[in-house]
Amino acid sequence: MRVNIDVDQSRCVAAGHCVSAAPEVFDQRDEDGVVVLLDEAPAEHEHEGVREAALLCPSAAIAVREAERRL
Ligand code: SF4
Repeated sequence: MRVNIDVDQSRCVAAGHCVSAAPEVFDQRDEDGVVVLLDEAPAEHEHEGVREAALLCPSAAIAVREAERRL
């Protein structure tokens, strides 16, 4: 299974839960704490953290889409 991630920086309230849940995938801008997506299609071992980040985000700024891998 492959996941694709979209973040909506205009919704982000800089709570930082996403970075705690998946630090390899999310970061925060130094100047205002708004989310930065480091990897829009992360490896399998990151998926659990990514789903947790989407659930924890208080402003629903993270969208995770699952897609079957193309053969
Ligand atoms: S958890 Fe949501 S609101 Fe908080 S920094 Fe991440 S994207 Fe922004």
